[in-house]
Amino acid sequence: MAPTVIITGASRGIGKVIALDLAHRGFNLMLVARTEAPLMAVRAECEKIGAKAATCIIDVTKPEAAPTLRDASLDAFGPPWGLVNNAGMAESAPLAKTDDDLLQRHMELNFYAPMRLTRAVLPRMVENKGGRVVNICSTAALCGYPYVSAYAASKHALLGATRSLAREFAQKGVTFNAVCPGYVRTEIWDATIKNVVDKTGLDEVQAEDKLKKLSPQYRVFEPAEVAHVVAFLLAEESHGITGQALSIDGGEIEH
Ligand code: NDP
Repeated sequence: MAPTVIITGASRGIGKVIALDLAHRGFNLMLVARTEAPLMAVRAECEKIGAKAATCIIDVTKPEAAPTLRDASLDAFGPPWGLVNNAGMAESAPLAKTDDDLLQRHMELNFYAPMRLTRAVLPRMVENKGGRVVNICSTAALCGYPYVSAYAASKHALLGATRSLAREFAQKGVTFNAVCPGYVRTEIWDATIKNVVDKTGLDEVQAEDKLKKLSPQYRVFEPAEVAHVVAFLLAEESHGITGQALSIDGGEIEH
């Protein structure tokens, strides 16, 4: 039977491209998001490619999400091989406007939800003596940037947990890795450009220029580049790679 991978935030952006890439590679897919129509469309695309796909329409920040998703995945395909914690949010604000609500929203979606999901699916991976957890972090998990303290803190937290769990489960066959992209061309990128334009008075081209300059390659990254690294980490042959943060940033961060 083909291995199963659970992907959160699979209805658009990076998660959608990961789903289609893994469909081409023959994985069974459990696709997760809150909004039904786009998720069903991704499911149909995966099935057209020839993959088996199921959906779970759920807000991953709800307390019942982790057990619900685990059970839906077990019912559809049996124990999962992989979990890709991709659903995430990025809202920018200066410190004065970084209120508790903003902090809480980032921590709930970018940190608590992946932790709860990981806790729910891990026992079956350990039982099967194998599994892969891939957490989509960010370059903001490795260094700070102005106006995104809530986002950066939540991604640093997820990376810290990734590294700790890699050691905790090192001899159980399960690996934990983080993928850390710079700006990727999705709705988050569009929203960021709009925000820079609104807040600074720069035009769109100037705003893009400012953000592209973060990378020595002077560019925005594509979701397919993230999907490529996720597939690499999910492979059985990647067993020796754990506790790592793989950057996709054109050389911005050296570590
Ligand atoms: P998008 O906003 O394009 O997509 C987010 C996905 O997550 C959607 O499928 C959305 O579907 C889902 N989602 C959002 N909130 C929830 C929730 N509470 N429960 C379940 N699903 C949810 O994001 P990207 O594709 O740009 O980003 C994906 C990941 O990559 C994030 O973790 C982000 O932090 C990270 N990243 C992105 C970068 C970028 O520049 N784009 C750079 C670095 C990292 P729905 O709304 O229907 O629930």
